[in-house]
Amino acid sequence: MNADEKDGHGRRGFLAISAATLGGVMLASGVRLIEVASARAPGTAASKQVRWGLLIDTQKCASGCEDCVKACATENGIKDTGRPRTDAQWIRKVELKDRRSGRTLSVPVMCQHCERPPCVDVCPTGASFKRADGIVLVDRHTCIGCRYCMMACPYKARSIVFQDVTDQNPDVPRGKGCVEGCTLCVHRIDRDRQPACVEACARAGHNAMIFGDLNDVQSEIAQRVAKFSTSKIRADLRLNPGVHYQGL
Ligand code: SF4
Ligand code: SF4
Repeated sequence: MNADEKDGHGRRGFLAISAATLGGVMLASGVRLIEVASARAPGTAASKQVRWGLLIDTQKCASGCEDCVKACATENGIKDTGRPRTDAQWIRKVELKDRRSGRTLSVPVMCQHCERPPCVDVCPTGASFKRADGIVLVDRHTCIGCRYCMMACPYKARSIVFQDVTDQNPDVPRGKGCVEGCTLCVHRIDRDRQPACVEACARAGHNAMIFGDLNDVQSEIAQRVAKFSTSKIRADLRLNPGVHYQGL
C-alpha cells in the first residue's frame, strides 16, 4: 500500500543535538547487560535454531490504543518526562493512510530485529550486536553514545538516554548516554514469558501481536506467516526483519 507515515511523536531531533551535550556513560550498578543478553537461561546459550519474531495483525490493532506503548514503558522503566523530543521510546504507534483509498491503519513499530542489522555493521565498538536467536541488542557497557547506529537504522527504532535513569527494573539495565531500543523483552523471553507489549495487547482483548519462534513450524507465528500474506516494513532493504505485519 502507498502509505504516509504520520509519526506524531516528533522526537527524533537527534541530529540537532550536539554530541558535546552527552556526558559520560552512567550504568546501572552491578548489572551487566551482556550477561543478561547472552544466555537464554543460566548456563544455556541462545540457540541459532530459534528465530524470535513478532507478527502484528493490523486489522486487529486499534487506532488510538497505546496499551503496548504503555506496557513497554512500565516494563523497561521508561518515564514520560513531558519532553517528547528527548524521552526514550522503544515502541511507537504509527498512523498510516492509503493515499488512493483513504484507508487508515494504526500499527506499532519497534526495533525490527533485522537478520542483517545495519546498526550492528556501523557500531565501532561492537556494543550493538545480534544474539544467535536473532534478538538485536546494545551492550550499555561498551556503547560510547556515538549514535552511528541511530543514523543507520532505517526504522527510527533507537534512541539515546538523555536523562538520569532512576528506579530501574533490575532486569533491564539502562544508562544515561547510551543508545537503546526494543529488546523484545529478552529478560522475559529467557524465562519463557511473552514480551510485555504482547501481553498487554492480549489483555486489552485485541490480540493483534503474536510472539514466537519463526523457525518452529508448529508455532502459531510460523503457521500464520505460512498461511497468510504478510509483509515487512521496507522489505526492499533486504534486512529481513523478524517483525512481520499482516494486512499492511
Ligand atoms: Fe538495528 Fe534498526 Fe534493524 Fe533494530 S530495526 S535491528 S535497530 S537496524
Ligand atoms: Fe555502537 Fe553505541 Fe555508537 Fe550505537 S551509539 S553505534 S551502540 S557505540
